[in-house]
Amino acid sequence: VASDAQRRTIYALSTPFGKAGVAVVRVSGPDALAVKQMITRPVMKKSSKKENIPWMMERCRIVHPIHNHTLDDGLVVFFKGPRSFTTEDVLELHTHSGRAIINSVLSALASIPSCRPAEAGEFTRRAFEGGRLDLTQVEGLKDLINAETESQRQMALEAAGGAARAQFEQLRSTIIECLVFVEGFIDFGEDVDELGQEHMYEEARVRARKISEVIQGHLNDNRRGEILRSGIRLAIFGPPNAGKSSLLNFLAQREAAIVTPIPGTTRDVLELTLDIGGLPVIVADTAGLRKSDNVVESIGIDRARNIVKGSDILLCVLSLPDVLINSSTGLRVEIPSSLQPLITPHTLFLLNKGDLTTVSSDNFDDLLKNSELTGRAWLTSLQNNHGTAEFLVGFTKTLKEIYDIQGDDITGRNPLITHARHRDHLDTALQHLNYFLTIPLEQVDFAAEELRYAAKAIGKVSGLIDNEDVLDVLFRDFCIGK
Ligand code: GDP
Ligand code: ZN
Repeated sequence: VASDAQRRTIYALSTPFGKAGVAVVRVSGPDALAVKQMITRPVMKKSSKKENIPWMMERCRIVHPIHNHTLDDGLVVFFKGPRSFTTEDVLELHTHSGRAIINSVLSALASIPSCRPAEAGEFTRRAFEGGRLDLTQVEGLKDLINAETESQRQMALEAAGGAARAQFEQLRSTIIECLVFVEGFIDFGEDVDELGQEHMYEEARVRARKISEVIQGHLNDNRRGEILRSGIRLAIFGPPNAGKSSLLNFLAQREAAIVTPIPGTTRDVLELTLDIGGLPVIVADTAGLRKSDNVVESIGIDRARNIVKGSDILLCVLSLPDVLINSSTGLRVEIPSSLQPLITPHTLFLLNKGDLTTVSSDNFDDLLKNSELTGRAWLTSLQNNHGTAEFLVGFTKTLKEIYDIQGDDITGRNPLITHARHRDHLDTALQHLNYFLTIPLEQVDFAAEELRYAAKAIGKVSGLIDNEDVLDVLFRDFCIGK
């Protein structure tokens, strides 16, 4: 980390490079105000008293500091540190957005010796180093920029605003409280009688037990936050010709917007990210199973099994006429034996091509009961668009139940863990806390050590303990100008 003396003033374009209404160039560092004097000229003559008022937009001409040519007409705002994004003095130049304008402004800045171009994420990094953001907020900010669905946006906004930071800080400070009790009697042990010592130790243990439970609760969240952040992985599978592609088309074209087509990691598997009821759902279409009926038995199943293994939700599409049997107890669905290995108690079913059967909404409930599929199967005719709306409503509701989302509030209970990194550190903290709880009073020095490790692990989530490697990776993923 550069000391203040070495710290250069950095600049970058913070909006996309190209034609648009407005472009914003950001400048941050000790010379921001000097840069303002060099590169802008007020349009309206003002009393000097009115110049350089922080946080106030000023009309200006933007000029080249050496030959003084006007580059553009624009606006300038000066943010006085530490009340700025980076905590340093910051200048924002708002110009018209066009390649030549942007290039001329950037080269004007380049001609100022104390300035240099910012690296990717460097503004955010300075905000972190200035203590304005902790790592969970940095991650939140990054996730916010990358958010593609409503649930992602809401979660990221909360994290960027410091909701997770506050929770982690609370956990850490409670552990420090325990430590105070334990260390207190290491330091003053001789002055406290045995009963008093036991009492203090018990106070620490009560608190530690409580935090241990809280952390365990967060760790037992079925990776909800991580899944909502990165997308729910949905595998659509089933025999050839059941209607899998028709379903995918329905989901993609009608009710949900295709957000990003991702080339599949496995050959023949197409992945799409859809927004279903505000939830990011990454759909894998197991098109590879189509090759031929025989292949389904061998390679196909292997391939499907891999997809199924890496998925959060399984949706099996069956052609109802092919799987319907009329038994003594009534109509029933028999799942083909080749698919049996892929089915779990949580697998959802779409019983398609209902138009080719006598099954209707009247006898469908009985059919589900007989087949032990109640609550997790829908009847559709994708060809005629029958039952599809009901399926979508039911499916969305099921997803929201699984991920514990109530009503329209997509994030519901705020999930604390949104990155694997948080989980790792919380897990470490929990191990030290639980170990602490096994240590008897006689070994109080070891006990204190365990609490210290636990607090340190939580501190790593916020970035209190700086680790250049983590930081480099985190900020590298930002774009230039952020
Ligand atoms: P996939 O092999 O599982 O992907 O199945 P497709 O979606 O490609 O559909 C196979 C065939 O079944 C196509 O000719 C579809 O038009 C037809 N099909 C799909 N859904 C229905 C349906 O609900 N009713 C009928 N009668 N045909 C359907
Ligand atoms: Zn298909």
